[in-house]
Amino acid sequence: MKSLYAKSPAELEKILKLEKSYQAKQIYSWLIKGVTDYDKMTNIPKKVRDDLKEHFPKAISSKIVKVQKADSATKLLIELYDESLIECVMLTDGDNRKTACISSQVGCAMGCSFCKTGTMGLVRNLEDFEIVEQMVHLRTLAEDITHIVFMGMGEPLHNFGPLMSAISEFHRSEGYNISMRRMTISTSGLVPGINKLTELNLGIRLAVSLVSANNELRSNIMKVNRSYPLPELKKALISFQHTMGKRITLEYCMLSGVNTTKESAKELSQFTKGLMCVVNLIPWNPIDELEYESPTESEIRAFTRELDSLNVSYTLRMTKGRSISGACGQLATSTRR
Ligand code: SF4
Repeated sequence: MKSLYAKSPAELEKILKLEKSYQAKQIYSWLIKGVTDYDKMTNIPKKVRDDLKEHFPKAISSKIVKVQKADSATKLLIELYDESLIECVMLTDGDNRKTACISSQVGCAMGCSFCKTGTMGLVRNLEDFEIVEQMVHLRTLAEDITHIVFMGMGEPLHNFGPLMSAISEFHRSEGYNISMRRMTISTSGLVPGINKLTELNLGIRLAVSLVSANNELRSNIMKVNRSYPLPELKKALISFQHTMGKRITLEYCMLSGVNTTKESAKELSQFTKGLMCVVNLIPWNPIDELEYESPTESEIRAFTRELDSLNVSYTLRMTKGRSISGACGQLATSTRR
């Protein structure tokens, strides 16, 4: 057993072979508070704690190896049980609302050309407890994290089972008790995964990294578009929305001279027709190994003016955490230390 996380109190009772079920609830609530040292679980009898130490020496499988702070973002480098490294970030907004940005894979198979994680390739999927443990580590920075975005390393819908298991753990009322509407899955546009989400009808929010509403250009920038082109993506989004009734976020990473033209704005406006959505404009963050450039301020202004004239609803997200590489598309680690 690598970790006691992502298990319900009832599962813990079985796994730990506890004689009294209330002890499983007590252990569960220590774990949620981030207490993983059995000796600190003061309401658990010594005999039980000694048994736990002998049979399950580690309650948590990962550890923080580096903390970097900048602006309102704090990035943690996490070492997993096999020495793989992942990153997660806590973002604090102007209203002091704290959001955990969580990874779902080590690396990513999607290979989006503007994204640093995409350069790593897929190393492996995270297990459900590894997704949950990121929250445990982020809560050492602040206990009042109220929102989660699955927007760290990896394509969450490419690791569907463990992602769903982690989401139900985050939602558990005796645990973190985070409502579905405060969790957002951010996908590159993996249509079968979106369709599965629609079937499950969890009430969770969806963000799609659109980047371009021109099918050919999007296929050049994002390989996923070659398998699931824009018309298929739009169909999946409409049916998600039809079932869920929730506004979808279209992340639009602005790449200078690539997707910031008048024509791009028009195509974007066309794509949004029939969708209840908001476009989140994110000026691209410079990444050494990649060829793109960040848009200039006047380029951003010209693009937003165009969107205004086309009545496209958008927000402009000036990137938090740029100086610590904790902004969108910048999470990547060497896979081993
Ligand atoms: S943008 Fe997301 S899906 Fe694309 S390579 Fe990066 S982590 Fe993977």
